[in-house]
Amino acid sequence: MTEKVIIIGSGPAGLTAAIYAARAGLEPLMIEGMEAGGQLMLTTNVENFPGFPDGIMGPEMMELFRKQAERFGTRVVRSDVSKIDLSERPFQIWIGDEAHHAEAVIVSTGASARWLGVPGEEKLRGQGVSACATCDGFFFRDREIVVVGGGDSALEEALFLTRFASKITLLHRRDEFRASKIMADRVLAHEKIEVRWNSVVEEMLGDESVTGVLLRNVETAETEELSTEGVFVAIGHQPNTAIFDGQLALDEKGYLETFENTSTSIPGVFGAGDVVDFTYRQAITAAGMGCQAALDAELWLEAQE
Ligand code: NAP
Repeated sequence: MTEKVIIIGSGPAGLTAAIYAARAGLEPLMIEGMEAGGQLMLTTNVENFPGFPDGIMGPEMMELFRKQAERFGTRVVRSDVSKIDLSERPFQIWIGDEAHHAEAVIVSTGASARWLGVPGEEKLRGQGVSACATCDGFFFRDREIVVVGGGDSALEEALFLTRFASKITLLHRRDEFRASKIMADRVLAHEKIEVRWNSVVEEMLGDESVTGVLLRNVETAETEELSTEGVFVAIGHQPNTAIFDGQLALDEKGYLETFENTSTSIPGVFGAGDVVDFTYRQAITAAGMGCQAALDAELWLEAQE
């Protein structure tokens, strides 16, 4: 059997694509991935998604998206895609040894925040440890927090967080920023931000929530405990495009390239959400692109008939 459309990935982009594709009668099959729901599953309260005036927990929101997609007939498979062949139509997508065929594919595999991988980090995610200042900054009003990283993202997050936090310690592993000069100048001039150079986090401390970080100075090897209630890790994101490498055009950072609207380098394959977008990276923008991808796929399928 050949599916009309297979959607790979189940964050806001994929699930919105599924809602639109299902309502258009395309009976989408969604391969949701083992990290179903995407990055919102790692977030606590989402307060900036329109329609939820009291906020909603990230996982609960994704459950609602999913229910809505299933209500119109989306079939969801809880698996990762193991292999894909986009060289001819119908496209072939494998789950383990099982091949699925599709006329159109929507890629919404998202991006994953890079984490430090130090003790305490995983346990305290959502309990003071975050990779998204826009999502979680609001909870740190008048608190002292830490931001880790030296690229534009880290500096942008630090500057954004000055709206809430009373003090921000920016930890960078080298003695100069990777970020652009203009961002560096802003950060260095900001009265609420203190930069600690040559500093790495060895461990995140706390039982129920973050109480501090254990730091090591890479020059002197001295360690120190720094008290903090929040740690924002901003060391970059990784788009989830490994399975498409060599088949779809990716940019130099590995993000999926789109050309006209949500079309990728292969006609019939569409891209939406964080796998494409490294600029906005919001649930609402990903959902919007998911809608666009479904509409583009619908039009494209009609044109093939
Ligand atoms: P990035 O440029 O790759 O920077 C990552 C930073 O994290 C680097 O400073 C790196 O240190 C540090 N880092 C990486 N792994 C680490 C580890 N394990 N422990 C400690 N530190 C670690 O990533 P990004 O900041 O997310 O930016 C990605 C792209 O988006 C860039 O091209 C950036 O210019 C762009 N961007 C632009 C804006 C803007 O213009 N407003 C905003 C955000 C992002 P090293 O420097 O030592 O490698």
